[in-house]
Amino acid sequence: MSKRDYYEILGVQRNASDGEIKRAYRSLAVKYHPDKNPDDPQAEERFKECAEAYAVLSDAQKRAAYDRFGHSGVGAGGPGFDPGFSNFEDIFDMFGFGDMFGSRGGRRSRVQRGADLRYDLEITLEDAAIGKEERLKIPRLERCEECNGIGAEKGTHPEDCVACGGSGQTRYQQGFFSVMRTCPNCAGKGQVIKTPCKECRGQGRVEKEKTLEIKIPAGVETGSRLRVSGEGEAGSNGGQTGDLYVIIHVKEHEVFERQGENLYAAVPVSFAQAALGAEINVPTLDGEESLSVPAGTQTGTVFRIRSKGMPVLGGRGRGDLFVAVTLITPKSLSKDQRKLFEQLAEIEDTEFTDASFMDKVRNIFG
Ligand SMILES: [Zn+2]
Ligand SMILES: [Zn+2]
Repeated sequence: MSKRDYYEILGVQRNASDGEIKRAYRSLAVKYHPDKNPDDPQAEERFKECAEAYAVLSDAQKRAAYDRFGHSGVGAGGPGFDPGFSNFEDIFDMFGFGDMFGSRGGRRSRVQRGADLRYDLEITLEDAAIGKEERLKIPRLERCEECNGIGAEKGTHPEDCVACGGSGQTRYQQGFFSVMRTCPNCAGKGQVIKTPCKECRGQGRVEKEKTLEIKIPAGVETGSRLRVSGEGEAGSNGGQTGDLYVIIHVKEHEVFERQGENLYAAVPVSFAQAALGAEINVPTLDGEESLSVPAGTQTGTVFRIRSKGMPVLGGRGRGDLFVAVTLITPKSLSKDQRKLFEQLAEIEDTEFTDASFMDKVRNIFG
């Protein structure tokens, strides 16, 4: 098996300029990139082949050696030559456009993924219980339509930076070492815009307020995070759009306290109701519900009303409502009430004197 000619692989003439070689490689690399051709060993083979050809032809010394001696001139003895990269991203890194697919952050490059946005939304407990459609107004950076996100005035194009030849990096000598650094002329972008788009001042993105309808599912709680894919800020130079995260804050409710999917409420009962037993009305998220309080109910007794709590997020069923009855001591009495309480006190006097203090205390705790 003989190796293919490097110029042939990249589809360029033998006298092709560095720019032509780079462009040819770039379009082939995009075409055969493994991300675009999953499980296609042939594409992967072509991809590696292109990378190898580019590694040689983009290096003036290696290219000269290849031109004179062919494959043997650049140490590529036979088939199976491996450029020595552990993965494909390394290959891109080598040539200074690791972010071509917007897959990594942290480096300055032409293509950048847009930022994720956070929106804090306050809702009521009732809304959290049944879910809600909410209209959000989000100020964010969107792709400039005037220049299609490129940043150059209509009819003009960004040009390769002359200082770095489009790589975004320049090499300088420090002592014995040659060091790569971000090109100061183009800020690492590799390209410069001579006539910036007036609409976005060359940024390629403009601030706009976007109205979004989002659906809040029933059962959310404070801290729930809803991800709205692709509704963050626009990427630069064709980069992916970021995501929008809506963070839920559920307002405190004046009646209910929530713990997970259960609700808790305190309900007042009178002495007479607690002593004699009564049907009382208790509030629930679905309206009032009747609860029978048996005779002799103590203050603080908790009753459970099933399935009147919060819905389970993304699941079935609802939690329970726990109602604590609280005995209310009247602060002011009518004439009739006072009379009756005095009568009651007289009877209690005789009953209480029969028992010791400790018996009374024991009675309280049942
Ligand atoms: Zn623009
Ligand atoms: Zn530059």
